[in-house]
Amino acid sequence: MLYMINEAGRTRPVLRCGICDKPILSASLAGVLFPRAIEEGQWVRVLLAHKVGCLDEAQGQLVNDAGLPHFMELTEYLGHYMAGVHAAGHDAVDT
Ligand SMILES: [Zn+2]
Repeated sequence: MLYMINEAGRTRPVLRCGICDKPILSASLAGVLFPRAIEEGQWVRVLLAHKVGCLDEAQGQLVNDAGLPHFMELTEYLGHYMAGVHAAGHDAVDT
């Protein structure tokens, strides 16, 4: 989940684990999980979780008839997101 925190007069973004609700201190420590068998055009909520200590619970929450959820490193997810935002923003300017 996405948050902002104010500490010592400065506001900064913070990501928190969807399982333990503790801050994720480094993107390399977390992953994004989402259910299998997403249909064309379907939106699904993802679950952000620590890779150590929270992954099993996250998988259990998203398991479905198609199997265990997909897992993506948070760093990879953010890379895809940033690439998508750039493309979407560029398209919006062109149209
Ligand atoms: Zn956690």
